[in-house]
Amino acid sequence: MPTLVMKFGGTSVANLDRIRRAAKRVGVEVAKGYDVIVIVSAMSGKTNELVGWVNETSPLFDAREYDAVVSSGENVTAGLMALTLQEMNIPARSWQGWQVPLLTNSAHSQARIEEIPTDNINAKFGEGMKVAVVAGFQGLTPEGRIATLGRGGSDTTAVAFAAAFDAERCDIYTDVDGVYTTDPRICAKAKKLDRIAFEEMLELASLGAKVLQTRSVELAMRYKVKLRVLSSFEEQSDEAGTLVCDEDEIMESNVVAGVAYSRDEVQMTARSVADRPGIAAIIFGTLSDAGVNVDMIVQDISEDGRTNMTFSLPVDQVSRAEKAMGAIKGTEINYDDLVTDTEVAKVSVVGIGMRSQSGVAAKMFKVLSDEGINIKVITTSEIKISVLVDRKYMELAVQALHDAFELDKAA
Ligand code: ADP
Ligand code: ASP
Ligand code: MG
Repeated sequence: MPTLVMKFGGTSVANLDRIRRAAKRVGVEVAKGYDVIVIVSAMSGKTNELVGWVNETSPLFDAREYDAVVSSGENVTAGLMALTLQEMNIPARSWQGWQVPLLTNSAHSQARIEEIPTDNINAKFGEGMKVAVVAGFQGLTPEGRIATLGRGGSDTTAVAFAAAFDAERCDIYTDVDGVYTTDPRICAKAKKLDRIAFEEMLELASLGAKVLQTRSVELAMRYKVKLRVLSSFEEQSDEAGTLVCDEDEIMESNVVAGVAYSRDEVQMTARSVADRPGIAAIIFGTLSDAGVNVDMIVQDISEDGRTNMTFSLPVDQVSRAEKAMGAIKGTEINYDDLVTDTEVAKVSVVGIGMRSQSGVAAKMFKVLSDEGINIKVITTSEIKISVLVDRKYMELAVQALHDAFELDKAA
């Protein structure tokens, strides 16, 4: 039997009615003759609630127990989905990560998948089971503990299963009907794309478009998984949604494919750092050892042997970063003070067309300046340009860039 992977995100399993609706979709594919692997998220809001409980109980929590708690939301939906399918006379069974087992490394709360043995689930398909419902987002470490795959990790579970079971396709059912030129929730003119290249999707995801977890796109690209994003709220044809595919499967594309934003950014500046060789290595080495993922970096021109070092990081890593920076303050990194600005956001434009067309950065900066938006930090790569701006201008920046690059005409 050909295998299909279908993943349902939080809003698609938010209550029993939605689970029934998702199960009906699964029934349609079973009727076509597929063995289906369904990956489920926790009911929407559940993971946030669990994370909140952990933080309230223990601010500097033990990551193994964090994972034990936050992985539990998916267990509930997996069981409910299997029961719902059984009620529809579809032979189904649920599996938690450890039962598969989905094997991960030991990096709790952001574990990477190492292997998914297929024999247990295949044996059940052999006995007539039609649907394996798997709890997304979780796996088993070599130490025998539960690990989670980072927020949004059920997408990665789904793609990894599609690769391991050589599935015909991996369908990601969510609350929008595909990948858009930007988040349709903050830009009414956003257009749904029929296709998007892996590389563009990878950049958009890593720059904040949460419709797919970055790692899931990486895996799909590496293992050549046919990946589709579509809505669980509408009747769907085989052509619905957005196909994430190789660049050469797209006839014509815009210079800019999309605009992404990330609200959860923080800017820190170590002021008046002694400007000597090795200073950056110490600052960023210390932050990295503390598990802080520094993103953008700028160093000012030095004056009288002193300089300012500015960098950005995710908002949930601020206390870790402040602690790490505090520990090196009195050493040879004798900076004056550390200024933290939590009211910033990152806005990025992405497109593989930028490789061959110049002027995108100039146009982006002009658009922002015409709107009176000050740029705090800039980073670029071959196919993206990102800027840090005051958070209050984030939506305006996204909309202005979407207009200027004529993304409302994309298809
Ligand atoms: P799920 O719970 O199904 O995993 P997510 O909330 O993780 O869903 O992802 C879907 C959301 O991603 C959409 O509701 C939308 O607001 C957001 N999003 C951000 N950027 C984009 C984009 N470019 N295209 C589509 N959706 C996007
Ligand atoms: N429930 C998890 C989260 O919210 C995983 C997921 O939904 O993909 O991050
Ligand atoms: Mg998601």
